Amino acid sequence: MRKIIIAGNWKMNKTNAEAVAFAKELRDKIGKIEKTGIVVCPNYIALAPVNSILKETCAGVGAQDLYWESSGAFTGQVSAEMIESSGSEYVIIGHSERRQYFGETDETVNKKIKRTLTTCCLTPIVCVGETLEQREQGEMKEVIKTQITEGLLGLSSTQMERIVIAYEPVWAIGTGVTASKEQAEEVHLYIRELLKEKFDEQIAEATPILYGGSAKPTNIKELLEQPNIDGGLIGGASLKVDSFVEMIEIAEQMFRG
Ligand code: PEP
Repeated sequence: MRKIIIAGNWKMNKTNAEAVAFAKELRDKIGKIEKTGIVVCPNYIALAPVNSILKETCAGVGAQDLYWESSGAFTGQVSAEMIESSGSEYVIIGHSERRQYFGETDETVNKKIKRTLTTCCLTPIVCVGETLEQREQGEMKEVIKTQITEGLLGLSSTQMERIVIAYEPVWAIGTGVTASKEQAEEVHLYIRELLKEKFDEQIAEATPILYGGSAKPTNIKELLEQPNIDGGLIGGASLKVDSFVEMIEIAEQMFRG
């Protein structure tokens, strides 16, 4: 059975001092969590200090992006190897803000996934999702299909076993408007069908698919009750320890044994 993962995407928030204070509080509050996967994704420069605080806990740390080369003259970029060397275990790839503001495409997403998979242990959290306009024009399935097909192009089943998908409808990110549980479940099921077509049933069943888009303590339970929603990638509501831990505790009670 797929385990529930609650991942926090801090985006461009928190100084190192704030990140460290959060990590210490989180460490002290998750001592009893055993069944839920926990991930926090700070900015690059907070990765190492947050890792050093959370290393003895069940929580993992992830970066919010990477570059697809391993080293060289690429000013400002950070490689998978550098992220891994900070102690991190995850990296978000293809977030809609990267697609919207920084020219991320399905092709660059694919390059980043492939580079990440050359490391020993980094897990890519690959984001897909449609805009409001695309949904209203009835293009949602086509958009998701293209993002999945192009983003995961050329990956073997063994490589796919390392990947986490996040469905994040762009219209729900940071807007306070959450996809209804039915809307989210429909797309999660659709993604699973695409994975079955592209890989096989076993991969489709094993791949964790997280939901992201204004998820918070008041709606996480009904989302996690859906059979194809395996957790949350959470922005705003992950920035305060109390609401983040509340969501982890809700997930822990819903453990799928
Ligand atoms: C996100 O950016 O991944 C996200 C889901 O943000 P929010 O929870 O704030 O909508």
